[in-house]
Amino acid sequence: MVGRVRAAQIQAIFRFTPLTMAVNVATVTVILIALRDVANPFALAAWAILPLALSLLGFNSYLRSRSRMPRTTASLRAFRRATIHAALLALAWGIIPMVWFPRLGAPEQLVVATVATGMICAGGFALATVPPAAMTYVAILAASTMIGVLRSDVAHRVLLGVLLIAYGATVMRSVLGTARLFVDRFRAEADLEERRHVIALLLAEFEENGSDWLFELNESLGIVNPSVRFAQVAGVSDVALDGTSLLELVDEDSSAELLRRVRAGKPFRNLEVAAPGADMTRWWSLSASPMLSETRDILGWRGVGADITDVRRAQSEIAWMARTDILTGLVNRTAFRDRAADVLFASRVSGERVAIGCLDLDYFKSVNDTLGHAAGDVVLREVSQELLRFADEGVIVGRLGGDEFGLLFHGNSTAEKVHALAERMIERLSRSYEIQGSRVTIGATVGIAFGPDDGDSVDELIRNADVALYRGKDTARGTAMRYSALMLRDAEERRTIKDDLLQALRRQEFVLHFQPIIETGSGNTVAFEALVRWQHPTRGLLSPDAFIPIAESSGTIVPLGDWILRESCRQAGKWPAPVKVAVNLSPAQLGSSRLSQVVKDAVLLGGITSDRLELEITEALLLSNDANTLRFLTEMRALGIGVALDDFGTGYSSLNYLTRFPVSKIKIDRSFVSGGASHVHRSAIIQAVTGMSARLGFQTTAEGVESEETLAWVTALGCTQAQGHLFAKAMPSHEIEAYLAAERDREPAAPRAWTVSASDRKERVGVA
Ligand code: C2E
Ligand code: CA
Ligand code: CA
Repeated sequence: MVGRVRAAQIQAIFRFTPLTMAVNVATVTVILIALRDVANPFALAAWAILPLALSLLGFNSYLRSRSRMPRTTASLRAFRRATIHAALLALAWGIIPMVWFPRLGAPEQLVVATVATGMICAGGFALATVPPAAMTYVAILAASTMIGVLRSDVAHRVLLGVLLIAYGATVMRSVLGTARLFVDRFRAEADLEERRHVIALLLAEFEENGSDWLFELNESLGIVNPSVRFAQVAGVSDVALDGTSLLELVDEDSSAELLRRVRAGKPFRNLEVAAPGADMTRWWSLSASPMLSETRDILGWRGVGADITDVRRAQSEIAWMARTDILTGLVNRTAFRDRAADVLFASRVSGERVAIGCLDLDYFKSVNDTLGHAAGDVVLREVSQELLRFADEGVIVGRLGGDEFGLLFHGNSTAEKVHALAERMIERLSRSYEIQGSRVTIGATVGIAFGPDDGDSVDELIRNADVALYRGKDTARGTAMRYSALMLRDAEERRTIKDDLLQALRRQEFVLHFQPIIETGSGNTVAFEALVRWQHPTRGLLSPDAFIPIAESSGTIVPLGDWILRESCRQAGKWPAPVKVAVNLSPAQLGSSRLSQVVKDAVLLGGITSDRLELEITEALLLSNDANTLRFLTEMRALGIGVALDDFGTGYSSLNYLTRFPVSKIKIDRSFVSGGASHVHRSAIIQAVTGMSARLGFQTTAEGVESEETLAWVTALGCTQAQGHLFAKAMPSHEIEAYLAAERDREPAAPRAWTVSASDRKERVGVA
């Protein structure tokens, strides 16, 4: 820094060099003319050479300094050289007053005095930026002039001497001040320059490496001098961008917001604006401050922009994921709930009715169990696509979890319309789907709750739609069921039932009733089916439908099932052989590996031969195709225990798997025997089953036989056994002895012609 200051100081002198040299030459000329007559011409000429030579020397270095690059630093030596040069020059000029002044006449003395004082001042200031040179020069010249004056006989010479000292001192003092000012200013300038340089470097780096850019706008928001980076993100050339209004680059909303901020006239930060591009909309975050004039008018804006498209995208993706069911692409439970809440809120104002539906797939669990979760996923996706087709009809669909979907009906919410729409959705979904080469059949049940009638809040409506759904699943699969307050009470009851089940088992509140199974050929009872009842302390005798599903889902079915097996065999032990006992097994019981041991123990404890026990299982169990199930059933068959396929016709109803499983009997479901389908249709199915059973050596039991006609019909179709209210309802165990006795007492020769009325028979066997 010191070197650079020195160089600038010397440079400053050079600026005046031509002028000072010209003044020197002019002054020499004046002196020569003025002293021409009074001084020795040779001495005068010899003197004149000195200042002229020095001037030439100075001019020469001036020319040299101009021809080459200006020096950025200067050594102390350069300073010394300048000082010597100044000293020599002062000596050269000092000779005139010192040597000639005393000898001159008044007019010449005036010239010399003027020249001397003028040279002191002019030289001093010309050299001011290099203080040593200036000081030396002023000191020498003032001293020699003073000597000359003192040596002369001019009046007041002492006073003049004093004046000279004062002038010299004053010049020196101001030289020092000027020099200091010069140095300070130079340092300040250098400092500023350096800072400017650093800032420029930083900014360049900022624009090159960062994703951000700087911008400047004029007062009407036209872009001023756009950077390359800004042009890049705007997708145009910087030339085209120059002068373009920032408002033209962003979309309408952003432009309105931007204008609002700008009009406020205050700095703003991180304003997110959308900039539509050729292929996609990009997002920028802008921060800017106004540039103010001295009168505080806004001259324009300066700020920083950042491209935050990726951040925004990531954010919206996260938001999307939080609200979407990834498997199906439908809105998830949270988002569905929020949408429903919005619609419900709006409906309060419009007074329109809103309905929420819960749709649950039927038989979906078997798909998952038999074909695996991947297949289940495929079904869920296909079902979602089917449901989405109803979006046009004002249905918003979401996945609530598992195989349960939420439906939000709005816009056309009369109960009839919603119901019809829901039924159409069910119809649409209920078909077979081809997955991994297998065909699976899916059904659906819907529960519906209307707002505001069935609930004030979304959560209440969803819960009530759910209640209706579960009621539907229990009683009317494949339909749309509207919620009623009664259902909620039932649902609550179910909850308390669940809590009470285990205790009931401990308190021995369960009882078994037995319903006879009759051989169609002989009319004789060949077996009793054990049907469990719950003698509830407050609610009376509960039917299995009220608690078995709950026991199954809560796991209580395992200990309860064990007890039923033991108790059934114990009762059968009291009956005359070969009357059998048929026991229903829940799929949940087969999950326990101890089951075969439980069965064997029960048979042993009951004191019956194993061929007098029959286990009733459902199709769903066979469908699960589980190796354990197969092993268990095979083992049972090997022991001579019968295996009946219960409720045949309600599920998949494929005759195909009958050949693959160790089954000994098929029970045709009540709905086929006395159900709603056409008679011809049912006949065909029953005949197909009995035909197949005959070939495979199975028994076929017709369930739900309530009339003589039905009995005659199923007998004719080939059913070997029948069960139903025509013969007897399920009875407590203590009635069995009498029932069997009555049957024995019946006229043995009487042909099996069911011509007697049902009431007669019931009277005869003593069963109500
Ligand atoms: P299920 O195995 O199909 O039992 C036959 C059901 O039909 C019994 O109802 C029986 O009372 C009824 N039923 C019999 N004949 C007729 C008739 O002519 N007309 C009509 N309308 N119904 C008739 P219940 O006892 O209410 O049992 C219902 C279901 O509960 C059973 O259906 C069975 O799936 C289940 N269940 C009953 N007891 C047990 C059990 O001990 N363990 C298991 N796991 N499930 C059981
Ligand atoms: Ca059964
Ligand atoms: Ca059945």
